[in-house]
Amino acid sequence: MRNLLLVLGDQLDHQSLLWQHSCPAQDAIWMAEVSGESLAPASSKQRTVLFLSAMRHFAQQLQHDGWTLHYRSLDAQPCSLAQALGESLQQLKPEAVRCVLPGDYSLQQQLSTTAQAQGYAIEWLADQHFIARPGEFSRWVSRYQQPRMEHWYRYLRKDRNILMDTNGKPAGGQWNFDKDNRRSFGRNGPGPVPPPRLFEPDSITRAVIDDVQHYLPSLPGQPDNFGWPVCRADALAALEDFIEHRLILFGDYQDAMWSDQPWLYHARLSSSLNLKLLHPLEVIEAAINAWQHKHAPLNAVEGFVRQVLGWREYVRGLYWQHRKDWSQFNALAANAALPDFYWDGKTAMYCLQQSITQVLQQGYGHHIQRLMVTGLYALLLGVEPQQVHHWYLAMYVDAVDWVEVPNTVGMSQYADGGIVGSKPYIASGAYIDRMSDYCRHCAFKPKQASGDDACPFTTLYWHFIYRHQALIGNNPRLAMQLKNWQRKSTQEQQTILQRSQQIIASDLPDTRRLI
Ligand code: FAD
Ligand code: SF4
Repeated sequence: MRNLLLVLGDQLDHQSLLWQHSCPAQDAIWMAEVSGESLAPASSKQRTVLFLSAMRHFAQQLQHDGWTLHYRSLDAQPCSLAQALGESLQQLKPEAVRCVLPGDYSLQQQLSTTAQAQGYAIEWLADQHFIARPGEFSRWVSRYQQPRMEHWYRYLRKDRNILMDTNGKPAGGQWNFDKDNRRSFGRNGPGPVPPPRLFEPDSITRAVIDDVQHYLPSLPGQPDNFGWPVCRADALAALEDFIEHRLILFGDYQDAMWSDQPWLYHARLSSSLNLKLLHPLEVIEAAINAWQHKHAPLNAVEGFVRQVLGWREYVRGLYWQHRKDWSQFNALAANAALPDFYWDGKTAMYCLQQSITQVLQQGYGHHIQRLMVTGLYALLLGVEPQQVHHWYLAMYVDAVDWVEVPNTVGMSQYADGGIVGSKPYIASGAYIDRMSDYCRHCAFKPKQASGDDACPFTTLYWHFIYRHQALIGNNPRLAMQLKNWQRKSTQEQQTILQRSQQIIASDLPDTRRLI
């Protein structure tokens, strides 16, 4: 064998550089399902089934195309990916090993070390499944003292001529339509929302579900209602379904939440993008095409393009820029433990119960549920960022280190001290009340900060401001919130701080009774 070509679980891309200068006559493919990747840190059943099923579908296609495949299937043996590679190298003795750069820096280190121990230097190939070219982000970012996503987004739009008028101005005369994109559903709710296309498990997925239940029964979540795209054909059908039925209101209701409505107008495309079943440019082009043909308004299309072209490419750039530091970041010195209810959804806080139960059942939560419900509560409570990171990596079907880490450790927990965002995303229960119907079903009162009925978000919001006064006071966008705290009477402040201490110490008997 000339080259052993490593294909990792999120590299299911028939166009990658791996296939250049490779041929089935001389080279062979290596893929491995290992329990270690699902156990430490844990990976939910939905996420594990998605990755393994997508891998098996991809492997089937490769075999069909005539490749020799060394595929290790899930078994009872505890094993990491690096160990599995080490065993295969010893046995197969290829002349060389090639792999596309993984989306996880520590995995790259582990694979390199293992290969080196056997006398191999893995040839790492650039990952071309992004819009930014190799090295482009680091060159761009070096020009800024304080880079922000908005700068990067405008740069890419201009450079790639995306949503631009012929006169060099942004389409519609505005770079963003954010202010149109913050609607809530009002008291009557969303009404009928076109349900997304779900994909019935085929025989491959059903076999994976059986294997996961058999070998990894203790993983969090349930695989029963699995419906994610597991191959390119499914992913293309999911894209078409979104563009046709839900893009139209994506912009308006991007931030809105509603009980028992996990999808609303969101795309559900992140897992297909991250597994590389879809290319980000084809997704953007499909949305722009819908606008050009008057199937979707500009605020929806620009809002969507901003997420994929702007945020997605930006967090990837930042991940690699700070790749050695993310696991150390803890700018707010947060050290509380992640509450147990994050793993089973059993809490009286209805917004959290909804968002967590949904992720246990579907492996999904939309951006505002992640940022302003599960992420916000951990931030206000002061949970140690690595614990929050492990939870997000475990629970969501689209979680891959390069995208999950900057979103969680950076945007959501502000543990990076302001690399991803310019301020911590803090809010009280009033925000959740405005953007959803959750508070109507909850035992707590969103506007109340003290007393037995006080919303824990609201109480902890004030506690956060109190304990981070220096940070908040020095940030012009947050200083008013500190002033509001200072305007409260000493007695009011004391009752809020006492209630906060009860929550932090998990001493909330009424919360427990309501579980
Ligand atoms: P939509 O809401 O329909 O958005 C369209 C697309 O835009 C998404 O498919 C995604 O590819 C992209 N996108 C939107 N926001 C972001 C963002 N902030 N960063 C990167 N891409 C974005 N996204 C992941 O893909 N994997 C993760 O592990 C992940 N972890 C997150 C953790 C936290 C704490 C937060 C706040 C956000 C996280 N996100 C993550 C970003 C975002 O929440 C998801 O991409 C989005 O909810 C996926 O659902 P969707 O496909 O329906 O997206
Ligand atoms: Fe969540 Fe507070 Fe609203 Fe209850 S009252 S749903 S805890 S924000």
